Amino acid sequence: MKLRTLIFPPRCPFCGSIMEREEPCAVCLAQTTELTGVVCGVCGCLPEHCLCRGRSFAFDRNVGAFLYEGAPRRLLLRFKQRGKPQLAVFAARRMAYHIQGRLGRDFDCVTYVPQSLSSHYRRGYCPARLLAEEVAARLELPCRCLLARHGGKQQKYVANDERWSNAMHNFCLRRGASIPARILLIDDLMTTGATLNACAALLKSAGAARVVACTFAIAAKKS
Ligand SMILES: [Zn+2]
Ligand SMILES: [Zn+2]
Repeated sequence: MKLRTLIFPPRCPFCGSIMEREEPCAVCLAQTTELTGVVCGVCGCLPEHCLCRGRSFAFDRNVGAFLYEGAPRRLLLRFKQRGKPQLAVFAARRMAYHIQGRLGRDFDCVTYVPQSLSSHYRRGYCPARLLAEEVAARLELPCRCLLARHGGKQQKYVANDERWSNAMHNFCLRRGASIPARILLIDDLMTTGATLNACAALLKSAGAARVVACTFAIAAKKS
């Protein structure tokens, strides 16, 4: 056995259990819903969770890789809260698989939803940026920072019906950024779609013709 394998053994990306190879364990696979079946062509949700009724989005569509529950939820918690930036590699591999399989790679660049400064200082890295860089490398596209964050309240602290107005106040275009026509917008999670909608609206107001979002996970709509 190689020394590196002893020091850094392969692990299940979802739960961190030590494995023989870098692959999901059977327990996590049983708790994982990958969004490969019939999903909404706009929000990317399973039909029973569709967010589009009575609502139109500024993004053209969202492509999500997993339902936010069970093992994918555990992966995002470890990636974002437990200092595991290396999980971006596995997460982005699945995201790139879904994007390429459903839409190809016909984009001018990849960009991402920026996090607040306080989150950045707390984590030391930006999860969405790491995902965007990995997705861009896999799709052989440039990754560019086009958006900035003002601060404001984080969406998770705001009630669902306030998220739309809150999101619109949280972001702005990065000063001096030139906005291409076809953009792939990356984030880790879509809950209501408000954040992705606000970012896509900004990009379109600055000249983008098509904004496709891609998130690692999509939360099931709360009824
Ligand atoms: Zn596992
Ligand atoms: Zn929908």
